[in-house]
Parts: sequence; structure tokens; C-alpha cells
Amino acid sequence: MPQKTKETPMMQQYLDMKKENPDAFLLYRVGDFYEMFYDDAIKGSQILELTLTSRNKKADDDIPMCGVPHRAIQGYIDTLVDKGYKVAICDQLEDPKLAEGMVKRGITRIVTPGTVMDESANTATENNYITSIVYEKNRFGLAYADLSTGEVKVTSVNNSMDLMNELQNLSTKESVVSKSFPQKYADPIKRLGIIVSTIEELDDNFTYDYSRITEELQVTTVKTLISYLMETQMRSLDHLKSAETYKTTAYLSMDHTAQSNLELFKNLRTNKKSGTLLWLLDETKTAMGGRLLKQWLSRPLLNQSELEKRQHILQVFMDNYFQRLSFQDYLTKVYDLERLAGRVAYGTVNGRDLIQLKTSLEQVPKIKEILLDIGDYDLNSYVEQIDEVSDVRDLIEKAVVDEPPISITGGGVIKEGYNEQLDKYTDASKNGKKWIAELRAHEQEVTGISNLKIGYNKVFGYYIEVTKSNIEKVPEGRYTRKQTLTNAERYITPELKDKESLILEAEDKSQALEHQLFADIRKSVKEQIRRIQALANILSQLDVLQSFAVISETYHYVAPKFVDGHSLNIVNGRHPVVEKVLSNNSYIPNDVFFDDKTDILLITGPNMSGKSTYMRQMALTVIMAQIGCFVPAESATMPIFDHIFTRIGAADDLISGDSTFMVEMREANDALKNATKNSLIIFDEIGRGTATYDGMALAQAIIEYIDKHVKAMTMFSTHYHELTELESQLPGVKNVHVDASEEDGTLVFLHKVLSGPADKSYGIHVAKLAGLPEEVLSRADTILSSLEDTAPKHIKVEEVKSKPVVESTSSDVEKINDSANEESQLSLFPEVGVTPKKLNKGER
Ligand code: ADP
Repeated sequence: MPQKTKETPMMQQYLDMKKENPDAFLLYRVGDFYEMFYDDAIKGSQILELTLTSRNKKADDDIPMCGVPHRAIQGYIDTLVDKGYKVAICDQLEDPKLAEGMVKRGITRIVTPGTVMDESANTATENNYITSIVYEKNRFGLAYADLSTGEVKVTSVNNSMDLMNELQNLSTKESVVSKSFPQKYADPIKRLGIIVSTIEELDDNFTYDYSRITEELQVTTVKTLISYLMETQMRSLDHLKSAETYKTTAYLSMDHTAQSNLELFKNLRTNKKSGTLLWLLDETKTAMGGRLLKQWLSRPLLNQSELEKRQHILQVFMDNYFQRLSFQDYLTKVYDLERLAGRVAYGTVNGRDLIQLKTSLEQVPKIKEILLDIGDYDLNSYVEQIDEVSDVRDLIEKAVVDEPPISITGGGVIKEGYNEQLDKYTDASKNGKKWIAELRAHEQEVTGISNLKIGYNKVFGYYIEVTKSNIEKVPEGRYTRKQTLTNAERYITPELKDKESLILEAEDKSQALEHQLFADIRKSVKEQIRRIQALANILSQLDVLQSFAVISETYHYVAPKFVDGHSLNIVNGRHPVVEKVLSNNSYIPNDVFFDDKTDILLITGPNMSGKSTYMRQMALTVIMAQIGCFVPAESATMPIFDHIFTRIGAADDLISGDSTFMVEMREANDALKNATKNSLIIFDEIGRGTATYDGMALAQAIIEYIDKHVKAMTMFSTHYHELTELESQLPGVKNVHVDASEEDGTLVFLHKVLSGPADKSYGIHVAKLAGLPEEVLSRADTILSSLEDTAPKHIKVEEVKSKPVVESTSSDVEKINDSANEESQLSLFPEVGVTPKKLNKGER
């Protein structure tokens, strides 16, 4: 910013404010515009496509400037915040007409990506979480809040990886930290595209209920968050619920990669919701139900009785079709109670919002009645908790007209009969207007001026207007001339002025009174926010459960039975999303079976046969089971899993060699280190990112390690045919393969999973399907047969010795590596640059 010798008082006021908010666009109210100056103006004019002008154009100290009309401000704020900027809004704090000297101004709100309260419909089912992080002795406190719904939660994690995961799973756009937060942790957070906002000091100037938090670190974390919210929002935050602690380990863990690979929320190809598990399961009728479903999906439960409770209610909804239909009808009329409660607290609620609140509350007794009518004991215990909040409903019914205007300052919001004084004013102004109309008719008659008009303007109130051509008919003496226009003259009369003051006074007072009454109503509603939130909570749970019932019924899902121990049996399971997308029931169901002794299913079969789909099907089934939904199968018995680890190549993540392989190894490492026997591991063709023997060696070593030490249920697909020999050597390994058959020399995918290894490598057939030249295909055939005669079949499993595991595994890998190097020099087809191993295995 250029240094000035002397600023005008207004620019000085601007600069002072800008100094307080250096990292935000400052929108500074001047008259009917919000202006930006200096760098804000230069950058802002580009982003918002505004014309850049300047203040003091002629002078040598001209100041870049651009502005937006105050009425259109919201759109501009949204655009800036959407692009990740902060916006500070400076308003005029007094009426400029009444101000003596400089108009008093102040920042009234700071909008940031984490605190924006977006009203648009497509974000209604998304929470916008702002987070705060506090670092202390190698631990992190992490809190999050959704300003529009009032939800606040807090946890602590022991390492930065868990922190990053949680931040990503929350899809937070902004994290608040204190000044002392270590830079080395702030940088990677920024690299995730999250804005890191620093708070200067903690605010103690507010009351907040920390009673549910026991850890000091977590209290500080929540305090950091609330301080920032107070600092930016500058208004009541009464709707923020008391912070609830949670443990990331109390839920089925999935890191962010697993969530994204399994396409729970976002389709990997399109980045949209369509084609995801959330998309499939979402038959919710309310926005709050939609948000809760997403929360449930990102945190599946570990608690069996809680899950069985959900299953039971789901079943009740399935069994009572007609009651469910009515329930759904009522639910569709329930608006977003959580966000309405937020707006009430914020003071941004208008008449229409209150009507939405009333309409929603009106559904509640009907909902209760229809659900109690089912007569289920457990459902009743939910329903009986429902507070109808009928006092609020009755108040709005009595006080607010059915179709109020958006503005709460222009009158017309309060119902007749609610307040006697207001009714009197309304009468006076209504009668006054009628009187004016009558006066006009009367004056037209007595003067004979047929186009005589009565108008109103702010400067001199009501006037009579006569066109120039009729001036001679104006009665001398009775009319006083007030204003001359090109074509007309304007007059007043004493009677007109008399009536005018009555009308204006009534209008003025009535508007002020209305405003006051509205504020009182808002206050009464605000006192009941907690009850409205509690109601929202129960309704959204019931909404998600009815959604599960609809899905489970439509697609013929079954209730999974949870068992202790280490076995799993899914009969005729399906991939829920692929099944839905495939037309005419063409999905081939498959069993998944782990007995007590099995921990690894080794899955072989040609590319495109359905290995990956089979494994994803399993993971999605587990997730669905652990959110309380039924699952796509004929029957399902399974344990409760504590963690899902995945290594699944996304369709388009085959970017290039090293980095992909490194990611692959990191994910494998994460699973080997952290999985327990209660975890599910999904490894899709691990090792394929490197040279054949190298990869195969790693794959085998990993399988041995899981079998010996981890014992997690593991699904391991591979195109290393040699690995199928492991079944005979490791007790926990079982071969299955996805069937394909040859018909007239082409490959037919049967998508059926059968026991035993695949008996042949189908790479060449896939190559044929892809249309490779006949010459290449027949040459590959020849090479394949000669290789099959000479190549080593597999390496024997390492004997279990008392040596430390890590050492033995790595030395084993080295040994195999060496032989791999020797082998790879024997290229049979050097001029084409294809190694025999690749041809042999038909890799992607
Ligand atoms: P792989 O992992 O063996 O290369 P995929 O699992 O990617 O194969 O499956 C390839 C395609 O086959 C999928 O896109 C899907 O449309 C189809 N498919 C897979 N499994 C089935 C099944 N059980 N029934 C019907 N179609 C399936």
C-alpha cells in the first residue's frame, strides 16, 4: 500500500480498518456502494469482473478503487469466499444524514470459507465445517463446528497423519490455530487447500458450556474455535451446542484414501455424488437427514447393540408400508430445522423463515401420531421423546401472516389481531389511503380536471398534480403551488396535509411497532432453540432410517447378523452401486466366505473379470452393515470390523511409475502396521507398480506377514499366478478366482467367483479383445508356451524361525530381487521393448 503524507479522514478510517484485517478483502460502505481500495480494488476487480476506477483521478496520489451496489453485495461475497478468500464487511453505523462530521463505521461481519452460511440448495445436504487445531506435547486437539447447524465436536489425535486424515474426512475449508502453532504442521495443512487462520489471542468474553469435555487440551481447542467465531461473526452464537467429545477409534476407521477409493461420497471419475454409496443410500426427505446420512457414512459404528437398534427400526419401517408413506409425506414438508434454528440465533431470520418453522412444526403431531400408530415398543421410545414445540408453532400462527414479505422492515409481517395498537395504526393508514383516493375523485369532479392526480414523494409528501394544459382550471387560493415540472404543476391543500400527517404517522409508527413485535417474537423463538435442535436431531435420525428401509426394500437387502470371532459368510452378495447401474438384473451375485482359519482370500482371474468389484463389494457391505443399513446379499453373517484398509488402484491413477508405487507401498505399510485381527484389508494387485519379480516378491512377503502376524481378514487380488501356490503352504490362505471362459477364441467374462486358483492367464485374450494385430497375438502365444516351460513357478514360503520378523522378511525380499534381476536380462523380444513377464501376465 502506498505511503501517503496526509489522507482524507475517510481514507484514514479505511486504512485503520484495513490494518486490523490485512488478510481479508475489506468492503467499505460509502453511500449505496461497498467500495474496495488499493490492492483489494486491483485484485477484487479482476476476480469479480468489476471496472477498476480511481479516487482523486487527477491528483498524483490517485487511489485504485472499485465498488459494488450494496443490494447486490451477497453475490460478490459468495464469489470471493468460494474462491477461498476472507471478506470483512464495513458498514455505516449511523444514518449519514444525521451524522455530524465523519460517518461512524465499523466492521460488522467477517465472512470466511469456514463460516459462510450458504443458503443454496445444492449445499443443503453438506455440512460446512470450520476446524481448530491446538498442538501440545506431540498431541493435537481438533475441534469442528458447523456454524449453520450449531454442531460442535472435539477430539484429540496422537500424530499428524491422523490429524490430516480427520481434516480431510471433514472436508474442512478453514482451520483456526493460535500464533504458536508449529509452521511445520501448518504447511501440510495448507497444501491440502485448507485456509489456516491464526487467532491472536483467546477470548474469554463469552459463556460457553464446556461441561462435556474432560481434557484440558480439548477445552483450549474449542475455546480457540469459539474465539475465532466470536471475532468474525460479532453476534449471538447461542445456537452453538455444547461441544461433544468423540474418539476417532470409537468408529470403524477408514483413512481418507479408503473413503475416496471406495467412492463413498464422490465418484472418482466425475467428482460428483452420482454413482457413490451416498447417492445410492440417500432417500432422505429432509436436508438435515441428508447431512446426518453423510455423517453416519463417514463414521460407521462399532457398537453392536446400537446397530441392532437401527436395524430394528429399519425393519419396522419396512413392515409398515402405509405408515411409512404418510411419514415420508409429512417429512417432505419439514424444512431445515437445524439451519432455521441457526438463523433465529443469528438474528437473520425473516417472516418467511418463521412460516417455514411453523409449517415444519405443524407436521410433528401428525408424525407422532402415525408412528405411534405402528405400535412398536422401540420405535415408541424414540417417538415419545419428540417435543412438538407447540408453543413456538402457536406463537407464529398467531403472530405472523401466512405469506409474509422477505423484508422485515417494510411492514406487512404481523397478523391482524395480534396486537391492538398495531391494528389501530393499520386501520388509520388504510383509511387514509382510501380517503386520498376519494379526494382525488372529488377534486377531479369539482375542478373538471379529469387527469388530476395525487402523488407522493419523500421531499414534500402528498401533492396534487395538474398538467400544464389544465392549469387555468386550478382553483385560486385553495391550492398552493409547490413545484413546477416541465409538463405539470404540483400543489398542496391544507386538508391534504392534515390527512397526510395522520397517514404518515400511522405508517411510521406501525412499521416501528411491527419491527419491535417481530424482534420480540424472534426472541421468544430463540429461547426455544435447544428444543428445536433436539427435535431436528430425532427427525433426522428417523429420516435416515426410513431412507434405509426404502433402499433395503427396493433392492432386496437383508439384515446382517453380527457374530463374535473370526468368520464371515456372505451368500450371494452384490456390489450395491454396480448392481443399480447395470441394467436388467445382470449383476452376478457372489459369495464371500472366511472360516475360522482363513485370513487371506487370494483372488486371481483375468483383467476385467470382476476382482476389484468383488473386493469393493465386500468393503461396501461392511460399511453398510456398520451404519445400520441392510446389505446387498441373500444372507450375511459377519463380525464387526474396526478398520478398513485399502490399496485399490483408481481407474485413472495409473499416472506413472515411481510415485504410484510409492503410494502403494505406503498404503501397504499403513495396513501392516495398524491392522488388527478385526480389520479388513483390501489389496488390489499390490506390487503391480514395479517390475514383475520385484512386485511378486513383495506381494508374497506381504501375504506371509499378514498370515503370520496381522491375521486381519484380507482380500488380495493378484495377477501373479505363482502366488496361488501359497494356499498349500500357508494355513490361512485360500484361493478363489473369477471365472471366465473362452468361446470361439474370445474371452467371455462370467463374473462368477469360484474356489481354487484361475487356471490360465488371459492376458493375450484381453489383448485380442483390444484389437492388437494378429501377428503380435500369435507371437505372444508362442512366447507364452515357451515361458511356461521354463519359468520358476514360485518361491517357497519362508520357514518360521525365531528370528525377528522384519529382518527375515527384508532379507527374503533381497534374495528374490536378485534372482529377478538375473531373469529380467533374458529378454526374448528386446527389439519391441516388451519383457516376457509382462506379456505373460497381461497386465493393464
Ligand atoms: P478386474 O478388477 O478383475 O479387472 P473389475 O472388477 O474392474 O475387474 O470389473 C470389470 C467390469 O466387470 C466392471 O466394470 C463391471 O461392470 C463388470 N463386473 C464385475 N463384476 C461383476 C458382476 N459380479 N456382475 C456383473 N458385472 C460385473
